[in-house]
Amino acid sequence: MKRTRSKQLMARARRVIPGGVNSPVRAYGSVGGTAPFLAKGKGARVWDADGNEYVDYVGSWGPLVLGHAHPAVLRAVRAAAALGTSFGAPTELEVRLAEEVCRALPSVERVRFVSSGTEASMSAIRLARAATGRARILKFDGCYHGHVDALLVGAGSGVATLGIPGTPGVPASFAELTVQAPFNDLAAVEDALRRWPGEIACILVEPVAGNMGCVPPEPGFLEGLAALAQQHGALLVFDEVMTGFRVAYGGAQERYGIRPDLTILGKIVGGGLPAAAYGGRRELMEQIAPEGPVYQAGTLSGNPLAMAAGLETLRRLRAPGVYAELEARARTLVDGFTGAAERAGVELTTAAVGGMFGFFFHPGPVRNFDDAKKANGERFRAFFHAMLDAGVYLAPSAFEAGFVSLAHRPADVAATLAAAEKAFRKAARAH
Ligand SMILES: *Cc1c(COP(=O)(O)O)cnc(C)c1O
Repeated sequence: MKRTRSKQLMARARRVIPGGVNSPVRAYGSVGGTAPFLAKGKGARVWDADGNEYVDYVGSWGPLVLGHAHPAVLRAVRAAAALGTSFGAPTELEVRLAEEVCRALPSVERVRFVSSGTEASMSAIRLARAATGRARILKFDGCYHGHVDALLVGAGSGVATLGIPGTPGVPASFAELTVQAPFNDLAAVEDALRRWPGEIACILVEPVAGNMGCVPPEPGFLEGLAALAQQHGALLVFDEVMTGFRVAYGGAQERYGIRPDLTILGKIVGGGLPAAAYGGRRELMEQIAPEGPVYQAGTLSGNPLAMAAGLETLRRLRAPGVYAELEARARTLVDGFTGAAERAGVELTTAAVGGMFGFFFHPGPVRNFDDAKKANGERFRAFFHAMLDAGVYLAPSAFEAGFVSLAHRPADVAATLAAAEKAFRKAARAH
């Protein structure tokens, strides 16, 4: 597969953009080779600048649950754009999307829109600290909540991919307030809460971890977190930027029956345009300015194009059977991977939750980030490139989840599995 034009574009990009990319994992640092520059997307497919076609399992890293360029979403965005692209004033579209979010997630009684997941986590933490009068926060190794200073400690996603221990530029005193625990480890959470009595403002968690590969919560883990948070006066904050409208319409909190104090949303809620949100119980959210003293603001917050795309996306996701369909698709895919890996003599651990999935070149179980890091990177690289050259576009890192959309047809999945048959044989030869 030729990527001449992508190579040329990357050379130009590197002269004016750090690493040639506007978000690190896009640079293919951990898998090598040149990232395809994407030129077009339609349904489950994307095309690069050289005209190569791929079945896409990245979906812009999660938002595109309806697939690329969905005609109804495009219509909604065009209609909104025709009326003006931004006002910096209240609009009806914001009210409608906020009402829908509150309907979808009963734990969310008030919601504030922002422009990125990073901004949403930053704001939710500020609120948690203000509401509890406590400074420390507890997060899990390998969970990613955006590039907020204090949250880059032990973070997944690109931080994990690049092997950066936290990051320069974050003063030690900021990072000091972040307490870490392994995912799926309630005893470690309890230890931390006892070690810092009355100091931990919130337990922040991706309820299904999706930034260290896909690692589901073990039975009882999320319930245990809710109980511990309550017992120790900390808030439970679910980062559902990835899982919201992805593992169920009402997110992981619906799927697992948990009621967090605060919820962070992003990705799907903006329907492929920049929007994110944080919300929760009324008396907490009332502390946000202008109702309360906790300041948070944004010039483009509640942008009408993003609200329109989000509304139309959510409307389509309310059709009956959508989540069963997404999960069946993800399940067919990972079960196919498992079979092909077995035939190639490759040890593989997979997970599929709603429309997200993951696979580790590791015999399993993979319960946390330490397990995930033990997966075979050489095999992942060989598999990744074999798939890419066969026209399957997966995330270029073993520490990312994959996504299926409603646009993925059985034929797309079948083509992917045919490619996987060969790719696992290649992976078997890598060490
Ligand atoms: C993507 C993601 C974020 C960050 O969102 P951005 O819009 O990239 O800032 C935060 N939390 C989780 C769980 C994510 O998957």
